[in-house]
Amino acid sequence: MENHSQHHSTGTATRCGHAHMMDSAGKCPPNSLTPGADALVKMYTGRPSRRNRPPITREKFIGHLTTITHHKLLVLEGCWKVGLYRQGLLHDLSKYSPTEFWVGARYFQGNRSPNNAEREDIGYSNSWLHHKGRNRHHFEYWVDYNLRGKEGESPLVPVKMPGRYVVEMFMDRIAASKIYMGDAYTDQSPLGYFDGGRARQFMHPETAALLEKLLRMLADRGEEYTFAYVRSHLSK
Ligand SMILES: [Zn+2]
Ligand SMILES: [Zn+2]
Repeated sequence: MENHSQHHSTGTATRCGHAHMMDSAGKCPPNSLTPGADALVKMYTGRPSRRNRPPITREKFIGHLTTITHHKLLVLEGCWKVGLYRQGLLHDLSKYSPTEFWVGARYFQGNRSPNNAEREDIGYSNSWLHHKGRNRHHFEYWVDYNLRGKEGESPLVPVKMPGRYVVEMFMDRIAASKIYMGDAYTDQSPLGYFDGGRARQFMHPETAALLEKLLRMLADRGEEYTFAYVRSHLSK
């Protein structure tokens, strides 16, 4: 690894055109990350090469459209049972936008999120970056800068999510587990997914605690009891 602080400490252009400190022999260190003043710096277009990307077929198009619509209907049903009518209608609408829809159709899997297939292919998910910035039921939406952070602390801080979005996230996890697990789904499945994942470490502690409480209640007492509990507590 290169020592970047060395580069920024001088800032003077040298014979080779690089803005860095020369080594003891007065030569330009190899593999400098700082481009020369006259070097051609290519602008990243944000569009990965299409050459090797999987094609969009009619089957995948229909499969993806069916899956996201089925998912939306399951979340709608859950949200409406607890009185979140508007959120139930608007849930994941951005999945029908071109940016998210075409990625979903191209990487349609049927048993897991197409975003993961896109990540494996190009290193990140365009579709997810578009989705998480627009949908408040994702804890990733609720991340802000930490201006009071001390040395060594993360500059990003999780913000506590309003209860109605935690509930929408709860419904989202139930619907996703039902679709991806099919007949193997039980009331314990969404809790198992949460326990096995790393989401907790990126959430505000109170957000994680509320989500876990609801998932645990679902696992122990079932949907009818848990939804009635949520409904009565959301209206207070
Ligand atoms: Zn979503
Ligand atoms: Zn969803």
